[in-house]
Amino acid sequence: MPDHAGGLRVCALYPDLMNIYADRGNLLVLERRCRWRGIDFSLSGSGLGEPLDPDGADLYYIGGGQDRDQKLCALDLAEVKRDALHEAAGRGAAILAVCGGYQLLGHSYQLAEETLPGVGLVDLTTVRSEDPRLIGNVAIEVELEPGVRRVLAGFENHGGRTHIGPKATAFGRVLKGHGNNGTDGYEGVRDGNVIGTYLHGPLLPKNAWFADWLIQAALGRGEPLEPLDDRLEAGAHAEARRAAGL
Ligand code: GLN
Repeated sequence: MPDHAGGLRVCALYPDLMNIYADRGNLLVLERRCRWRGIDFSLSGSGLGEPLDPDGADLYYIGGGQDRDQKLCALDLAEVKRDALHEAAGRGAAILAVCGGYQLLGHSYQLAEETLPGVGLVDLTTVRSEDPRLIGNVAIEVELEPGVRRVLAGFENHGGRTHIGPKATAFGRVLKGHGNNGTDGYEGVRDGNVIGTYLHGPLLPKNAWFADWLIQAALGRGEPLEPLDDRLEAGAHAEARRAAGL
């Protein structure tokens, strides 16, 4: 068995506030897929007001949240955790931010009466729209390794519209659904091991290969992970693709 000394250390930011749409399921998938391979797994949390250890995890996770919960987290993220998160990203730690968490990765999230600060890890802004929420099954094409295109399928439900700036790269291209803003065909953002996406769904159970990509990236290992029996996961992925109309 490959040597994954120390195992995978995951830190969930605001686990009590930013956790809608199966975010806990995403964390469980990471745990199971490590343990099934004999890779140690540990999960910590960092809530409001708690300092974040920039060396304390290999993967930092920020889940989805309602606007009101995001308000509480945005200031804390910008004031208490900002430097640590930048330091973690700088040393190659993986960061996965989903929906509400994704919206806080950039410069700002503009609501009707106030503008929430972002943590400034990537060049993007989000604006809350009065237009109908962007809801539904979604499928995107991503190219995590050059020349290897794969499909992620999930579910989106957001009122915010995200626009990535010239210094940012989209995570994927929308095949079905709305993506970042319903107009430009982009979904999410990616800068190395920092990924933001609107895909809930739950994301990782329906896209087990992506869970493995994250584990591998977070561990910083070159060798591929041991394959698992993914017949159930493949079925869930196929069902999610069908639901999105692919
Ligand atoms: N509150 C955000 C929005 O509505 C994100 C919602 C979510 O995480 N599903 O745009």
